[in-house]
Amino acid sequence: MSVVSTKNAAPTVVGHYIGGQVIEGVGVRRAPVFNPALGRVVRQVVLADIADVDAAVKTAVAAQVAWGRTPALQRARVLFRFKELITQNLKVLARALSEEHGKTVADAEGEVTRGMEVVEFACGAPHLLKGEFSESVGTGVDSYGIRQPLGVVAGITPFNFPAMVPMWMFPVALACGNAFILKPSERDPSVSLLLADLLKQAGLPDGVFNVVQGDKVAVDALLEHPQIAAISFVGSTPIARYIQAQAVAHGKRVQALGGAKNHAVIMQDADLDAATEALVGAAYGSAGERCMAISVAVAVGDETANALVARLKQRIGSLKVGAPDAPGIDMGPLVTEVAQARVTGYIEAGTKAGASLVVDGRGVKVAGLEQGFFVGPTLFDHVTADMTIYREEIFGPVLSVVRVADYAAALRLINGHEFANGTTIFTRSGAIAHAFSRDVEVGMVGVNVPIPVPMAFHSFGGWRASLFGDHHMHGPEGIRFNTRLKTVTQRWPEPEAVRADFSMPTMK
Ligand code: NAD
Repeated sequence: MSVVSTKNAAPTVVGHYIGGQVIEGVGVRRAPVFNPALGRVVRQVVLADIADVDAAVKTAVAAQVAWGRTPALQRARVLFRFKELITQNLKVLARALSEEHGKTVADAEGEVTRGMEVVEFACGAPHLLKGEFSESVGTGVDSYGIRQPLGVVAGITPFNFPAMVPMWMFPVALACGNAFILKPSERDPSVSLLLADLLKQAGLPDGVFNVVQGDKVAVDALLEHPQIAAISFVGSTPIARYIQAQAVAHGKRVQALGGAKNHAVIMQDADLDAATEALVGAAYGSAGERCMAISVAVAVGDETANALVARLKQRIGSLKVGAPDAPGIDMGPLVTEVAQARVTGYIEAGTKAGASLVVDGRGVKVAGLEQGFFVGPTLFDHVTADMTIYREEIFGPVLSVVRVADYAAALRLINGHEFANGTTIFTRSGAIAHAFSRDVEVGMVGVNVPIPVPMAFHSFGGWRASLFGDHHMHGPEGIRFNTRLKTVTQRWPEPEAVRADFSMPTMK
């Protein structure tokens, strides 16, 4: 598999993938791509201009016609082969994305596997695209509904899951007969080209899947392009809001998933050891750079809070921060120096606002990686709802404990937050778990599980400022998003003449 174009002298350049070829395009701007553990630039990525986007769209439009008419079973067979190739290349993909993202290689393998599960779901295309049929809706008249491709769908993705989030989108879009243009994050772009190469090896016709590298210029060109039918976006809330408004203004279908602040409620009757393990993994895994990371632990009652904080503090002491590819490491660095500065800024702000800093992750140094963008696991207690560290998404390894008096206060807190992506509750009470699942106003809910990320055959998405648009991603919602419904009403008349009917047709 080729990752980068070596046309230019070092550092190597990550190109676009258009019409089955890696190219550098006509845009002359470049952005640096870092290895965040080393803290230095390892390659450059090309940044598309409008002409590059237009070339990708034209290629995709041309290729989509035949792909859209290809029987769903044949489309699925390409995806079956793609799935096999991902399995064979799991370690290559994981290492490539870990190098640019900074998450551990083991975590990266998990990411690719979760993405692959959407490919497995999309392999069911012939079944998933089965239409509906009503016989005799009128005398001699039948009616049926079919789901047809939209045309060209574009996906704009964040840095934190450079393989999985694109794979939430394109397997379903392709299975439905669309062509797809991926605009990956400019911070970790290389894995997109590896996926493109595997799709080609799987037999996907050139032009059906394309990658345009870039920044806002590329995104705006996709949003404004008249031949893009739909936009799938995952990223931060301000950009998600913008994407939805722009896509709608340009007549496109849009699903735009935004930021998160995920709460875990710890009830008095919870298994505290299990809850501590779950919280530590969900708060600090991938250095907290997950949209389903738990960033708030809502402890019900002071006794619960005291016992929980003591356990968390002890467990955090055993976490290992280090090189993402070293064995036994729990957490790598943050993605950029800017992200590192933002997170340490929040830690400072939390302290100033009066929260108790139980574990301070600032100043963590990893031997041999002194320039890396590391922040260690951080724990705040006595965080209150008015503090910025509670209200805003930190997107780093910072867990805030908020103390509440009872279950009702915990529920009010969560339902009052701007974000509503995921949440979970730890309890032994079936009645509380049931009430929570029913009454919490959040898109994805867990009970005694750390990160309630739905499986590929269910759909992923939050509520409120965590999702703009009408459809969640993958699963049945993904099929609906990627197709448009056509309803056909047909009569095959008997040989005698049919007379014109001037009143509204009704069933006779
Ligand atoms: P981001 O919003 O900065 O970038 C996302 C994408 O938008 C990138 O491809 C980027 O190039 C593009 N972009 C950035 N600024 C833009 C602008 N001004 N105009 C047009 N396009 C622009 O997000 P990120 O930092 O890459 O990712 C982290 C964010 O993504 C977090 O907020 C996280 O919660 C969120 N996220 C959400 C989910 C979810 O499912 N809800 C999943 C993963 C990540």
